[in-house]
Amino acid sequence: MNEINPHFGEHAELRRSIRELCARFPGEYWQKLEEKSSYPDEFVRALTEAGWLAALIPEEYGGSGLGLTEASVILEEINRSGANSGACHAQMYIMGTLLRHGSAEQKRAYLPKIASGELRLQSFAVTEPTTGTDTTNTKTFAERKGDRYIVNGQKVWISRMQHTDLMLLLARTTPMNEVARRTEGLSVFLVDLRARNGGQMRVRPIRNMVNHETNEVFFDNFEIPAQNLIGEEGKGLRYILDGMNAERILIAAECIGDGYWFIDRARKYASERIVFNRPIAQNQGVQFPIARAYANVLAADLVRYEAAAQFDNSKPCGAAANVAKLLAADASWEAANVCLQTHGGFGFAAEYDVERKFRETRLYQVAPISTNMILSYLAEHVLEMPRSF
Ligand SMILES: Cc1cc2nc3c(=O)[nH]c(=O)nc-3n(C[C@H](O)[C@H](O)[C@H](O)COP(=O)(O)OP(=O)(O)OC[C@H]3O[C@@H](n4cnc5c(N)ncnc54)[C@H](O)[C@@H]3O)c2cc1C
Repeated sequence: MNEINPHFGEHAELRRSIRELCARFPGEYWQKLEEKSSYPDEFVRALTEAGWLAALIPEEYGGSGLGLTEASVILEEINRSGANSGACHAQMYIMGTLLRHGSAEQKRAYLPKIASGELRLQSFAVTEPTTGTDTTNTKTFAERKGDRYIVNGQKVWISRMQHTDLMLLLARTTPMNEVARRTEGLSVFLVDLRARNGGQMRVRPIRNMVNHETNEVFFDNFEIPAQNLIGEEGKGLRYILDGMNAERILIAAECIGDGYWFIDRARKYASERIVFNRPIAQNQGVQFPIARAYANVLAADLVRYEAAAQFDNSKPCGAAANVAKLLAADASWEAANVCLQTHGGFGFAAEYDVERKFRETRLYQVAPISTNMILSYLAEHVLEMPRSF
């Protein structure tokens, strides 16, 4: 059957390379990992060695200096192949905080090693159990004492901590009642998880709906050298927000990849599965939901390319990035549902990968940003309706 992505030809070489690499990690590979709840180490190593995770790192630091459009194609094609970018995607978007706001010394020290794969920067600690989406209310506190910061607090849902060397941490450095605006007084730190700097950091894995390594983290007088502060103290939230458009666009592309995977699987299965002496695809009751889901993936994909082009041309892209993420997450979820329904009972069998991908793509309605927060952004910042929180 033909390729169903009309944009395939636009980055054909790149897409083919990613598909070739992913073909070495077929469904059985991911199924086995799920059985043992283990991390796709070999897969992430292969992507790193091929240089794909360093796509956004400038050439002067050993990366390939590609644009966000190309980076988004890489993640799209990983998911399009049936694999899961969630094991490693954060390296692409959190690296931007270090690149844009880190000191020349920090960039020289870390970026070439991240680009070569010697170090992994895969974790990003923002969410807290009692704060949730209300990030300005962050309670984890980092107090400056001489040449160190002493951190106390708790984070939750911190992904890939056991498979990374470096982690970005958002913590309050000035109490909320001493800042003029809630958005001030938060700082970002580059935490080297290999270093033993005193105090304690306990990590407790969270079993969850997908095979995703994510954790609760408890800081107890945990020490970070002051030189690991990124940018200026108190400006951390702005640095984090700066990276969010890239994150939205990259996640949208993953959803698009999932969407095409689901549609492709559904149309093939429906064409082969014979019930009542004919392929189930011959019934319009089966065809139409697949065709509708496909139309929605195509539409979301157009907004994703528009958002990525705006980002690459340094134009304001907040609205397009948010719309792309919203539409793509909805389209992939619709496609997931249709694909599962098309497979009937077999959709529930692990060996078909449909139920795994179904669970994986569902996450994007909630993380890294929940749908309501995107709608709220559009309502307030684009449509200029009153602020609700
Ligand atoms: C598998 C997984 C991996 C994750 N990885 C990371 C990670 O690596 N690093 C990290 O920092 N975080 C991570 N997260 C956390 C994720 O970003 C949060 O779960 C997400 O932002 C939502 O926050 P919350 O769970 O606290 O929901 P809450 O803030 O408690 O919200 C619950 C629900 O209420 C809605 N809601 C809340 N307030 C409003 C409002 N005012 N108006 C309308 N709706 C509202 C939300 O949209 C949501 O649907 C991960 C989460 C998961 C599940």
